[in-house]
Amino acid sequence: SLWHYLQERFKETLSKVSYDTWIDSAVPIRLTETNIIIEVPSSLHKDYWQNNLATRVVEGTYEFTNREVSPIFMIKNEEVKSPDKEGTHLKGKKPFKQAQLNGKYTFDTFVIGKGNQMAHAAALVVAEEPGTIYNPLFFYGGVGLGKTHLMHAIGQQMIQLRPNAKVKYVSSETFANDFINSIQNRTQEQFRNEYRSVDLLLVDDIQFFADKEGTQEEFFHTFNALYDERKQIVLTSDRLPNEIPKLQERLVSRFAWGLSVDITPPDLETRIAILRNKANSEHLEIPDDTLSYIAGQIDSNIRELEGALVRVQAYSAIQGRDITTSLAADALKSILPTDKPKAVTIYAIQQAVCKFYQLTLEELKGKKRTKNIVVPRQIAMYLCRELTDSSLPKIGQEFGGKDHTTVLHAYDKIKTIIKKDSALEHEIKTITNNLTNK
Ligand code: ADP
Ligand code: MG
Repeated sequence: SLWHYLQERFKETLSKVSYDTWIDSAVPIRLTETNIIIEVPSSLHKDYWQNNLATRVVEGTYEFTNREVSPIFMIKNEEVKSPDKEGTHLKGKKPFKQAQLNGKYTFDTFVIGKGNQMAHAAALVVAEEPGTIYNPLFFYGGVGLGKTHLMHAIGQQMIQLRPNAKVKYVSSETFANDFINSIQNRTQEQFRNEYRSVDLLLVDDIQFFADKEGTQEEFFHTFNALYDERKQIVLTSDRLPNEIPKLQERLVSRFAWGLSVDITPPDLETRIAILRNKANSEHLEIPDDTLSYIAGQIDSNIRELEGALVRVQAYSAIQGRDITTSLAADALKSILPTDKPKAVTIYAIQQAVCKFYQLTLEELKGKKRTKNIVVPRQIAMYLCRELTDSSLPKIGQEFGGKDHTTVLHAYDKIKTIIKKDSALEHEIKTITNNLTNK
């Protein structure tokens, strides 16, 4: 069995005492499509497994089953919060079989790839150990990349591990509306009880807090109340907190107390895997080359990717034809850009430059002035001006809110340098080719 295989593997590398302490005391619970769940006797064991053995569990599982899983270490008989303590104020409430959580958005249905690996791992940690390690957990990234999905997954996983946990998922607009209604109806007390009594608060798309002064004020207090009680907070946004216009500084700084993780668009393999999963769950017969074709056409947004699949499916049903690559091409014709080359976006340029110079998006968009960052930043701005129709202020905005004169300066500078520096010119050519030959 897999467990036996893992044990053998550990025997080879661990001393006897170490083996007896850590491995013998652990019990395999379950292997799912995406996780291996192992029960350990204490939080100390758990830390040890997490820090020292997890990688080998992943490798071993992969060798044995060809599955890429994330391990979850559960503590045996972990004290679930006693319902008695909260008994009185929970009275009369429905059990928290969270209506707000979408049963389809779980860890099991989440495909892990390069762009979301970190986010996925952090989500899992938070679901397992709410309130202690990454608080708040902040996901940011473009539309349709799985932020909401991960939030729901955290909520559901946490309920699975702690059935008494109170989880609340809201969009930032719902939070704002609830707050405003509570003022109008004079039910602020109730509003506060509701939001401040949860074990896990998930607030989606907080970029919409921009401009809402009163709501921000209230959220600040909600945040503090939960944080002080070591309750877990998870937030998402399409950008980093400090890039959200008019978000109060004190919120920005609090959000930085925890962990911020970005989600970037999936690579081709991940897109194919997502489509394949989706096709399987809908019992669709789709040849591999057709999946690759669809995944190759739609490359930045998973929601659109799923939409394309639905479209192909509908088209095949209406036409009474099997799903093939040529059918897919027909079905998608009207939604895909025709022969004009794919438009290059600022984001794509930033990604390409980061990849080429091995920087993170944050570094590229940040304020650090070391040479190894400044030059790539200027190159990225230069390329944005050359390859997109975006205005200078728009480009500046996409680089962490820089002034348009900064962009212009960068543009001029690079333009001058490449006249003299053929190595740099070549680098820029390579990046441009990477961008346009996709
Ligand atoms: P966001 O909140 O970032 O805009 P969503 O979480 O709403 O994106 O995801 C859009 C759609 O794509 C959802 O249907 C979601 O289930 C799906 N999706 C996103 N990421 C993944 C993934 N890694 N694996 C499977 N499905 C995904
Ligand atoms: Mg969302």
